[in-house]
Parts: sequence; C-alpha cells; structure tokens
Amino acid sequence: MNTFNINKKGYYGEFGGAYIPEMLYPNVEELRQNYLKIMADSSFQKEFNQLLKDYVGRPSPLYYAKRLSKKYNTKIYLKREDLNHTGAHKINNTIGQILMAKRLGKNRIIAETGAGQHGVATATVCALMGMECIVYMGEIDIARQAPNVARMKMLGATVIPALSGSKTLKDATNEAIRDWINNPVDTHYIIGSVVGPHPYPDMVARFQSVISEEIQWQLKEHEGKTKPDYVIACVGGGSNAAGAYYHFLDDENVKLIAVEAAGKGIDSGESAATSVLGKVGIIHGSKTLLMQTKDGQITEPYSISAGLDYPGVGPMHAHLYKSGRAEFMSITDDEAMKAGLELCQLEGIIPAIESAHALAIFEQKTFQPNDIIVLNLSGRGDKDLDTYINHFKL
Ligand SMILES: *Cc1c(COP(=O)(O)O)cnc(C)c1O
Repeated sequence: MNTFNINKKGYYGEFGGAYIPEMLYPNVEELRQNYLKIMADSSFQKEFNQLLKDYVGRPSPLYYAKRLSKKYNTKIYLKREDLNHTGAHKINNTIGQILMAKRLGKNRIIAETGAGQHGVATATVCALMGMECIVYMGEIDIARQAPNVARMKMLGATVIPALSGSKTLKDATNEAIRDWINNPVDTHYIIGSVVGPHPYPDMVARFQSVISEEIQWQLKEHEGKTKPDYVIACVGGGSNAAGAYYHFLDDENVKLIAVEAAGKGIDSGESAATSVLGKVGIIHGSKTLLMQTKDGQITEPYSISAGLDYPGVGPMHAHLYKSGRAEFMSITDDEAMKAGLELCQLEGIIPAIESAHALAIFEQKTFQPNDIIVLNLSGRGDKDLDTYINHFKL
C-alpha cells in the first residue's frame, strides 16, 4: 500500500534520513535502535498517558466553533491544543522525550530554541523530572524573547547564548549538536519539531499523534463518524500538523491543508513559506526542502510569528508537498493578524499568531456547508500580546 508515513530506512518518499557527522552517529544510533521498543513498552505508555492526562490536561477539547462556522458557511471544529499546560502542543513531545531519556539512562537534557517556546516546554519537563536542563538560544533571540528566557530560568534551566553566525535558531542548533557530540553518554537532545535526523521526525510525530487519536473519537461523539473532510494546521517545522494528520495520513478521503507563513509576501524576500520557496537540501541532519541561496547557503526566514520562522520543513511535510497529498497555502503577517483578532471576537479565544495563520485560510478558500473541518489550534496568544498590541495599536 502507498503510505505517507515513514519507511524502514527513515525516509518519507525521497526526504528524511540521517545526514550527520560521524561523531554524532553513536548518539543517534542508540536512539534509533531503541525508540520504538521503548514506546511500545506498556510501562512507558502508562506513564506517558498518565502525564498527558494529569499534567498536560488532555484530552484537549474538540470545540465546534459555531459563530466562526456561520461566518464561513461551513462546519469548523477547533482542536484546542491552546488549552494544554504551557499553552501549546509542544509539551506533548517534550513529555514523551523526557520519558525516553529516562529509559535510555540519561540525566542531562539539552535543547535548542528560537522564540523560546520549545525551551520553556523542555525546561518544564526537566523540572518535572528533576533533570539538568541546558537550552541553547541565539544571542539575538535571547534579547527579543526576554519573558521566555525568564520562564526558563525560573524553571531551573541554564540558557546558553549562541554567539556565532546570525545568532538565531540555526546557530543555537549547531551549538546543541556540538554539545551532544561532546556528551554522548549522559545527555539526551530534545528536538522540538518533526525535524532533525531519523528517528527524530518519526518519534516526534508519534508523540504528537495523540492529537489525531483524540480527534477521531471526539468527532465520533459530535458527528457520529471518526473522519473529518479536512484537517488544517499551520506548519513551522511541522509537529502540530504531523500530530493532527497522523491517523489520517493514508486515508485520502481526509484532505490535509498545511499553512505556511508568507511573512511580508512570498516574493518579498521576507518570508518563511518553505515548501513553495525551498529547494532540496540538508538541514539539521535531514534531507528536506529548505530556503537557500543559489550556492546553498541557508536563507534567514522571516515571519511575524516566531514559531513559523524556520528555514526548513520536516521531511514528512516535504513529502506531503511533493506528492500532492497535502495542499499547501501561505498566509501573510497581516492576514494572520486579522484572522487572530477575528477569532477573539467571534469565539472569545485569543490564538497564538502561528495558529492564526491556519485560521486565515477561510478568507482564501471556500468550503461546502456540510464539510467537516478540524483546525488544529496549536497554541494560545498570551505570548503574542505585545505583537497584537503593536499591530492593532490597542
Ligand atoms: C512552535 C509552534 C508552532 C510551530 O511548530 P510546529 O512544529 O510546526 O508545530 C506552531 N504553533 C505554536 C503555538 C507553536 O508554539
């Protein structure tokens, strides 16, 4: 059967794999050999599910957005990942990976972060488990994301500035990889999205797949069937989308829509619409689509939402794009901000600006009145208040 999931060699179609320096091979190989066994273990499953329930607050509701649906003359359900502890879907993955680290006998955790959201989610689970936490973050990001830096410090993490290159996410990632090479025995590297060398994209997708697992039974309660007509999600690296799509990947009756950040416009030079603008290349150990110059230098991405501001996209999404399985749309800063404000006023929910990109497609695409649409509301907008204030002069 044709599958859009990963194959035995760690590829989605032509994308994925593990393109890593020799020195990193033992670390990644230890994880590759053990991750499926550990995840299948009943004591692992029990602990993971218990924490998702009692600590994260799952299941997250599947909410029928009545006024939003009325406005766009279709049926829109919001999967409320914004209601999770720490305010987004990222915690599903960090809970899974900290339990994985424990089973592998690791006691030191490293992570990279851009806007700080993944750093906060990692620092949170390290505090929960009493593990040492070191977060690498670009010096420029540290300056522009002060509240998240403070959160990580309060949670007991050490934040180390990355001083090389553009002093942003990709430089922080390089520092984290360097650290891991130097500490192969006691350290686990928690990657924050469905990116990086195999098995990370698959492992993170599996931890996030709880989203679509819940959508199935929740939709059954609402609509008497487990499958929506459409699943919509925003895509930075692609983890919330991977989780929302996961159990529907191979059922082509369920249409998938991936929404990327066009920034100031696809052709403006200030964008993060990776699949449209990207070319095949290697980033963070994975063969995928990434934005690069003619001579292969990674282009600095731009989006008003820090979480979508990533120059690559996970290999699953590169394959969904290339194969046509998912429809890719891109939304500008202004369109996203408008859609974010609209959700506030129609439903009383302040969304993360990342999630607002997904909401904005209702202005671009018309759905049938009886289409059942599930939109993954990846996070809440508290962290984005300053951006909303400046944009709308509130
Ligand atoms: C980090 C983040 C994203 C983007 O990451 P994905 O891996 O693409 O899901 C989207 N929404 C929110 C709220 C985030 O914090």
